[in-house]
Amino acid sequence: MTTGGARSLWLADALAGAEDAPSLEGDERADICIVGGGYTGLWTALRLKELEPALDVVVVEADVCGGGASGRNGGFVLSWWAKFEKLEHLCGGEEAVRLARASAEAVVTIGEFCRRNGIDAHYRHDGWLWTATNAAQVGAWESTLAAIERHGVEAFARLEPREVARRSGSSEHLAGVLEPTGATVQPALLARGLRRVAIERGVRIFERSRMCRLERSRPPRVHTARGSVTAERVVLAMNAWLQQISEVASSLFVITSDVVATDPIPDRLAEIGWTDGVAISDSRLLVNYYRTTLDGRVTFGQGGGAFAFGKKVGAAFEGAAPPGRAERVAASFRSLYPALADVPTPRTWTGPVDRSWTGIPFFAPLGGRPDIVLGAGYSGNGVGPSYLGGRILASLALGRDDEWAQTASLLPPRGGVPPEPIRYLGGRLVRAAVARKERAEDAGKSPGALTRRMAALAPAGLVPLKKR
Ligand SMILES: Cc1cc2nc3c(=O)[nH]c(=O)nc-3n(C[C@H](O)[C@H](O)[C@H](O)COP(=O)(O)OP(=O)(O)OC[C@H]3O[C@@H](n4cnc5c(N)ncnc54)[C@H](O)[C@@H]3O)c2cc1C
Repeated sequence: MTTGGARSLWLADALAGAEDAPSLEGDERADICIVGGGYTGLWTALRLKELEPALDVVVVEADVCGGGASGRNGGFVLSWWAKFEKLEHLCGGEEAVRLARASAEAVVTIGEFCRRNGIDAHYRHDGWLWTATNAAQVGAWESTLAAIERHGVEAFARLEPREVARRSGSSEHLAGVLEPTGATVQPALLARGLRRVAIERGVRIFERSRMCRLERSRPPRVHTARGSVTAERVVLAMNAWLQQISEVASSLFVITSDVVATDPIPDRLAEIGWTDGVAISDSRLLVNYYRTTLDGRVTFGQGGGAFAFGKKVGAAFEGAAPPGRAERVAASFRSLYPALADVPTPRTWTGPVDRSWTGIPFFAPLGGRPDIVLGAGYSGNGVGPSYLGGRILASLALGRDDEWAQTASLLPPRGGVPPEPIRYLGGRLVRAAVARKERAEDAGKSPGALTRRMAALAPAGLVPLKKR
């Protein structure tokens, strides 16, 4: 596995002039060893130090901290309100409200954490617009809003179509709702900032130190090419790369998400009135997500470009998105922003999304062992929720019996992903049907019955599929 390769625009900027932490050489001991230095691993490390400052916490990262999805994502910091129906289904209404509220508070807390710790992650708290960009998508949010409102909560504001077009800078947006809690960040600056604060608080970080073997001894031992860490507890915070752990293989599949970015075009953005930090998504399963940056670029991403086969998150998930996929994303950008159709998108990158079968992340001891715990499955919405992931995993690792450990018992890994090669081949067929369906809807046509039936086999994304 490599998580290196050409960097995202975000990480390249955030790494300028930075020195790597040392790589692991020789045998170390620690109280807790965290494998993976993305948001989940780093929030877990910070939480552990908050709960028990004297703990010796080690992070072992294959690449550099932020080299995975945390340094490449769209920078949308979102709550779980959009996933409320699924949460309610899995945990019941009361717990779903508690978790969604906690996830919304996490968005605010991340901003406060950055301010308090001098992390300039370009945090902008301008909300998230959940939109429709064709007639078939209009109202995709209704069942979610209704479910939330049944609990007396108003998490979203219904906007007039005119206002949606104004806020998004394009009248291709036909309708939408605003979740005011949403924020945007420069994601790699956030990851690197968490790394700095973790080091300041005494967390020992080893970069370019890939775990090549997890020895399930007692205590467990994490092996890298040139060293090992024996720890009382191990936390696996490896995101998509967790797929190689056989116990979670039926709960997770890995898909790409591809991003393109323009050069800075602040004057063009001012002309169309799209200058704040609002995060915008449409209502496709192969979701488009886009925002502006502080220096006036547009970054535009699209989910579900390709699947991983078997246990490997391979080279297809690293570096630049391949030309065909990058062009598809750029074409979507141009069609949603015709006023910017002449603007080139010279930067592109891709990354792996840890799609859980339910669309909600899971947290659990590995094989029932309390000394090895894991969490993943954010399904493309992890920037905000990984803060909660850190709390959950820290509580699990410390064996605490608190609100967060109990949350883990509500969110175990749930199977459903078929074994290979059915997963890969079936996934491709279903993805192709979803793409056909969404193309037909863009053209104002009704997709054929077979396409609709095949597309309905996809696990739901933002929009519950059965409702469309
Ligand atoms: C292109 C893209 C766009 C996205 N956009 C958004 C968005 O806008 N909003 C949102 O909320 N979410 C988004 N996501 C998802 C979000 O980025 C993730 O949910 C989040 O970063 C997960 O953090 P993590 O720490 O769990 O994973 P990661 O940041 O991937 O961290 C896991 C780390 O583990 C390391 N690792 C793996 N295997 C090993 C090993 N064997 N030994 C040591 N280290 C190992 C990896 O190198 C990696 O650094 C996006 C994802 C992608 C790929």
